[in-house]
Amino acid sequence: MKSSQIFSSSSDEPADERRVRKQKRGRGAADQYDRDFGAFLLQFPATASSSPPTKKKRTAAGFPSDKVFYNRWRSMQFAKREEYLSSQCSRRPPTFSKVSLLIQKEGWTGNCPRPEDIVAKWRPVTRVQVESDPWIITKIQNQKWTGLALKDFGSKGQGVVATKAFAMGSIVCDYHGKVITGAEGRKLVESIKGDTAYLFFFQAAGRDLCVDAETFPCECHPTENTMGRMINHSSKRANLRPVHCMMNFPEGQRDVILFQAKRDILLCEELLFDYTSSSAILFEEKQ
Ligand SMILES: [Zn+2]
Repeated sequence: MKSSQIFSSSSDEPADERRVRKQKRGRGAADQYDRDFGAFLLQFPATASSSPPTKKKRTAAGFPSDKVFYNRWRSMQFAKREEYLSSQCSRRPPTFSKVSLLIQKEGWTGNCPRPEDIVAKWRPVTRVQVESDPWIITKIQNQKWTGLALKDFGSKGQGVVATKAFAMGSIVCDYHGKVITGAEGRKLVESIKGDTAYLFFFQAAGRDLCVDAETFPCECHPTENTMGRMINHSSKRANLRPVHCMMNFPEGQRDVILFQAKRDILLCEELLFDYTSSSAILFEEKQ
């Protein structure tokens, strides 16, 4: 394991820098340098939380007193810290204060990425990342999505509002219910006849399916009022879009409809999506 760490760490350096250095020193010298730096890392592991090796420690361990290894060690640690901070903010974009707090909690005072850089580098997760994201999988399983609250809108009935800001691309919650066939869903619509129907029809890889949130409470959450089914419709003001994902649960893959923020959503804004957009159609209360 150690040797593979050394191998990968020696490739962290940009390829052109390595080439230049190899030309300068010759292949033998460059290889020797990589081996020596590997030994340096074994002696002083460059983790996000490790302390930098002092000059005294470096020389005592038989390494040169100059800062060549030391600087390379610091840039490796910097990259690891950057990676750690970004990993804490994978689903939703971080705020300056959240990153500052994370840094404070770790006690990093020097050699640390700036919060504003972590914020600026944030990108929404890709579908592949989402489908295996442990945080999203847990939220689907326990239905304890954060940042959402039910609100009574009077004559319109209940809806869901954001109790925190969601940036564009954030996964807000799922449309929770048992996945049934489209035909079973259409039968349910007929049996309901003009009353409330919480059904989400979708096509996935040639399959005609439907999320049944009409059957309530669901078998898996007998005591929860799942949020996704309470989100209202708006074709003009929709701020969420439904996304079909094949989530990788521990017990296997399952079709899930996730709601993703179409744009930045402000605190207290009502969450809305367009039932009639794309291939997804959802029937709800007929006014
Ligand atoms: Zn459930």
